[in-house]
Amino acid sequence: MQKFNITNHYYLKRHVIIIEIKLKKLTLALDMYGCPNRCRHCWVGHSPNGHMAVGDLEMIAAKFKPYAYEFEIFDWYREPDFNDNYKELWELRKQLSDKITPHYELISVWRIVRDNNYVKWLVSLCMTKAQLTLFGGEATTDYYMGRKGAYWEILQAIDILIENKISPRIQVFVNKNNIDELPLIEKLMLENRLSERCIDFGGEFACFVHQGSCDGENAKLYDVRITQDDLKNIPPLLSEYTLKYFHTNNLNDIFGQTEQNLYNKYIKDTSTRSYVEDDPVFFIDSAYNVYPNITTPAPYWCLGNLKESSPEEIIQNYLNERSVAQTVRRKIPLNEIVKQCGNPNSMRLFGEKDYITFLLNQYCEQGYFSL
Ligand code: SF4
Repeated sequence: MQKFNITNHYYLKRHVIIIEIKLKKLTLALDMYGCPNRCRHCWVGHSPNGHMAVGDLEMIAAKFKPYAYEFEIFDWYREPDFNDNYKELWELRKQLSDKITPHYELISVWRIVRDNNYVKWLVSLCMTKAQLTLFGGEATTDYYMGRKGAYWEILQAIDILIENKISPRIQVFVNKNNIDELPLIEKLMLENRLSERCIDFGGEFACFVHQGSCDGENAKLYDVRITQDDLKNIPPLLSEYTLKYFHTNNLNDIFGQTEQNLYNKYIKDTSTRSYVEDDPVFFIDSAYNVYPNITTPAPYWCLGNLKESSPEEIIQNYLNERSVAQTVRRKIPLNEIVKQCGNPNSMRLFGEKDYITFLLNQYCEQGYFSL
């Protein structure tokens, strides 16, 4: 049974049954070139950088496009604009997609400090804000980004953005092992007059602190995930910016509640759920494996490989929830997953959705279920 607005037409043509699936919208994101960084908080993971051909983007678009009323394709799901042909890919995306999403407020820091034309191109796309990530001072930021020199490149990128009237937004990931460095970020913001410099050109500086989800590489930071008592150590200015950014007056709306609370809630919850939507986004890695964009593209979420399966088979796998993780969530009651993988004594903070995703991934990773 298909759900939502997904339509199936079965008809006979020269004795062959053709099944036509039409999703309301289908978005594909290819990991064509990977990423220069290896961030420790990276939820999409650290697979090796690939080098897919431009023809792959065209070929994959042509294969999947007939299966959706609206179709869009991206050439990245890790670092945007990482490869030298970023302008060509942008134009190609326009041709291959029914309509493209305006450039996200995400940029390639690696490129902006090496390619003078890049920021001009971002301006030409009417970009007014761009997000960058810091973790504290130089050594800590380099450590978390997995690359020496990343900190200084981020600082350079902030200046380049402001010179070009694009407001930087600093995202800060916080864990127990970098919370003591948050005052350094506050100092950097004040000493560099980031807010005033943005106001000068009619922009607005923004900043927010959060702990991120707990999937992909970030799940390895479970042991240093912050607890309720850490929230008071977030410097006042960073708290103020964070509350403003998320439109709330309570940090727990952002950082969530203790694992213990969530455990006690879900240990009584016998629900299951489906992840099928009528407008899915699929990730395609450089080895042509396809995953639904729900959490980290791990093997237990894989819907198939394009070298072995047709687009229709992959879409059917998604719609019929045949990946291991989809099957687990559809068949295993939540309380069973929590019982196996939750920690009733943990004071770590989680948002509800992130916590369930974390447990589901753990359940699959630890082999509690196989197809
Ligand atoms: S978080 Fe972003 S920049 Fe960092 S490794 Fe992952 S994709 Fe690359």
